Amino acid sequence: MIKHSKNQPCPCDPSKQYEDCCEPFHQGHDNPNTAEQLMRSRYSAYVLQLNTYIKETWHSSNRPSLAHFTGQPIKWLGLTINKSWSNKLANEAFLEFTASYKINGKMQKMHEISRFILENNKWFYLEGKLS
Ligand SMILES: [Zn+2]
Repeated sequence: MIKHSKNQPCPCDPSKQYEDCCEPFHQGHDNPNTAEQLMRSRYSAYVLQLNTYIKETWHSSNRPSLAHFTGQPIKWLGLTINKSWSNKLANEAFLEFTASYKINGKMQKMHEISRFILENNKWFYLEGKLS
């Protein structure tokens, strides 16, 4: 877990302060209203290594047993949400995003289409397809 103060820029969007963006979700004071908010807060949780948050926002049907995130020297550099669409009847939403990171000093980009579902008024990450 990395310490991040309330008035620092949010990892998911440098134009916002952490306390006005993902912090209330990480602290459990509020739940994301949209799949995009959930996606952003999960990205920030990866940056800040908030293992519990990542686990809890993963839908139980597909949740891996992540013990920790140590061992991989990943430095996350930014998130861009390229596209989002939803299927309201099925309480499903999809997001296409690109996340940049550095590993062993090399810049990389991860491109994924993620699937989210709304269950009991809470959004969960279900699965992702790398492309
Ligand atoms: Zn944020």
